[in-house]
Amino acid sequence: VCPTAAITERDHIERVWAALADPHKHVVVQTAPAIRAGLGECFGLPPGSLVTGRMTAALRRLGFDGVFDTNFTADLTILEEGTELLTRLKAALVDQKPVAIPQFTSCCPGWIKFAEYFHPDLLPNLSTAKSPQQMFGALAKTYYAKTINRRPEDIYVVSVMPCTAKKFEAQRPEMNASGFQDVDAVLTTRELGRMITQSGLDFTALPDEAMDQPMGMSSGAADIFANTGGVMEAALRTVWCLVTGTAFPFEKLHVAPIEGLEGVKEISITIPSTVPEWDFLKGQTLKVAVAHGLANADRLIEQVKAGQKAYHFIEVMSCPGGCIGGGGQPRFTTNDVRRDRMKAIFAEDEGKQVRMSHENPAMATLYRDFLGAPLSETSHHLLHTHYQRREIHH
Ligand code: SF4
Repeated sequence: VCPTAAITERDHIERVWAALADPHKHVVVQTAPAIRAGLGECFGLPPGSLVTGRMTAALRRLGFDGVFDTNFTADLTILEEGTELLTRLKAALVDQKPVAIPQFTSCCPGWIKFAEYFHPDLLPNLSTAKSPQQMFGALAKTYYAKTINRRPEDIYVVSVMPCTAKKFEAQRPEMNASGFQDVDAVLTTRELGRMITQSGLDFTALPDEAMDQPMGMSSGAADIFANTGGVMEAALRTVWCLVTGTAFPFEKLHVAPIEGLEGVKEISITIPSTVPEWDFLKGQTLKVAVAHGLANADRLIEQVKAGQKAYHFIEVMSCPGGCIGGGGQPRFTTNDVRRDRMKAIFAEDEGKQVRMSHENPAMATLYRDFLGAPLSETSHHLLHTHYQRREIHH
């Protein structure tokens, strides 16, 4: 069941079949990090089966013209959101400006809507970075359209997401940075499972295939966005390396205190030394927290507002376990299923050659050829957004 309650599942299967049958459309698909650890369950595979390669093969056989990865823009989110955090810290510590700290993550639309309704005073604290889904849509109709010499209106963007809240997010009126609705249709994991079944493909017999480029390349840090604590861990890996210029000091790059199913997790990390650009952070202790499930998030927020807790950066995910436990994933999601899917995601991360977002070579190309730099004017236009106070109607 979708934890964001007010959102009802609207099936996008028919419109995706229609787009795939339209010869004038160039139809691309992106799959969220959590899908590869859940989709196999639609075909009788045990929870925690990693099906990245078979999922890619299935999408290609369904007729998509480009099979890409939301992980690509998860890496981009880390670069934009991490730079935003460092910019806020600099404004507070060096320029003594009144900036909104803690910064909150912004990639979960269920959490964003909850904040807009119940904590509008926190809206300046939400990272302005769009979610990876929306960054992908905006880039598919601009950056990618340019590379294949097509008009943005010819590109049709389909997302496969672990929740129905993503359908709402794609339809927010401000999500049209390309000049068109950036993401045209959103399928849940279960809906993609149904499409594969409708097509007659034998999913379990498919070979492993690789995603297309340039928007299919990602680091292991992007994979772990699927798990509670993953966005924070991915951000810490990159922020630490950029600020200190040294290797990330955690075993196997995992920040154990913020992983796992505990409702609220936290860690403090002292920065021993820095490269010259970030010397104001030398000796500072960075405090971060992670909450999953909106009741846990609400409790944590009340403690922060009451001055009982203080952090620099907080990750919030609506669903227990994070996106691996999303309402659009195969049913039924128990804690054992969550643990199995989380393990699969960590295996995917550990199997990657590149495990830090800033080391994804596709990011360097994207910034060099198109965006310029994190938080550039083009980045602001395409990759950042704003939030709005919403009234509760009884
Ligand atoms: Fe969707 Fe849940 Fe992930 Fe939020 S945590 S993006 S509601 S699946």
